[in-house]
Amino acid sequence: MNARRNGLSVTRAPFRTAAALVGVLVAFAGLSAQPAGRFRVTLLGTGSPPPKIDQFGPATLVEAGSTTLLFDTGRGTIQRLTQLGKRYADVNAVFLTHLHSDHVVGLPDFWLTGWLFTGIAALTQAGAPQPRALSLFGPMGTESLAAHLEQAFAFDVGMRISDDRIGRDGGRIAVTELREEGVVYDEGGVRVTLFDVDHRPIVPAFGYRIDYAGRSVALSGDTRFSENLIKRASGVDLLVHEVAVRTGETQETSRMLAHHTLPDQAGIVFTRTAPKLAVYSHVDMSPDVTHERLIEMTRQTYKGPLVVGVDLMSFDVGETITVHEPPAR
Ligand SMILES: [Zn+2]
Ligand SMILES: [Zn+2]
Repeated sequence: MNARRNGLSVTRAPFRTAAALVGVLVAFAGLSAQPAGRFRVTLLGTGSPPPKIDQFGPATLVEAGSTTLLFDTGRGTIQRLTQLGKRYADVNAVFLTHLHSDHVVGLPDFWLTGWLFTGIAALTQAGAPQPRALSLFGPMGTESLAAHLEQAFAFDVGMRISDDRIGRDGGRIAVTELREEGVVYDEGGVRVTLFDVDHRPIVPAFGYRIDYAGRSVALSGDTRFSENLIKRASGVDLLVHEVAVRTGETQETSRMLAHHTLPDQAGIVFTRTAPKLAVYSHVDMSPDVTHERLIEMTRQTYKGPLVVGVDLMSFDVGETITVHEPPAR
């Protein structure tokens, strides 16, 4: 059974987030191989700073044709990528939205563990790719972050090269600092466009729009309600947006909430951008708020298709958007 309504079809494995999907029928399918040319977004981590076992740090994988891009490297990025059956070597480039620790704390693990196992595979498996420098795009400060990581892990990098004989190119991070809005990546038919969001006083803070084969995805990064995001993400097929909600607190009383987007504000963003599907990721809720309640709060200002993201949920962006529940863990 497979259902379609308003350009959205949903396939799902175990029925774990029933109320997260609204206005759609659901059916079983699970993650399956897709034909070449697919445009798939996978939420590797949907969390934020609180250390949770079922919600790793922010990281979103975008596969478009033969290109694989990663946005943010929160806690557990390499674990989730591995759970997905993907290799570090498959990732062509990493983009950071901003330098808050929850978005980058998984970077050294992603880089060093990824490099190590890429190197071992290259030594032991015929045809396995050689390690190469990690291609990292990010805001001002990314160069310094990478240089200090290289310095901090210089002992390990040296030993991996001299002792484990791992290809040395992978022991480096090649940084491109991004300074202004516009197209920042355009290869293999995949175009990435940077836009500013409003996460003040954290400046710069970026959102990204990814265009491929006439389809489009926008990632909000961390932001409070942003008119610029509405402008840049208007009409995208899939909009992945952050949200924060704490019962008993308001944006006036909470410094954390004041940097982020409340559900009713996110609803306005969704209504005005009108994506085929709106998805919450970087979901920061107090423990007493359920997904059902989060959706209810969003419904004050938005009536369209909406999903509360969970780790390893994925979305195929085509004429319709297909939602895949995460495989059972
Ligand atoms: Zn964050
Ligand atoms: Zn942040």
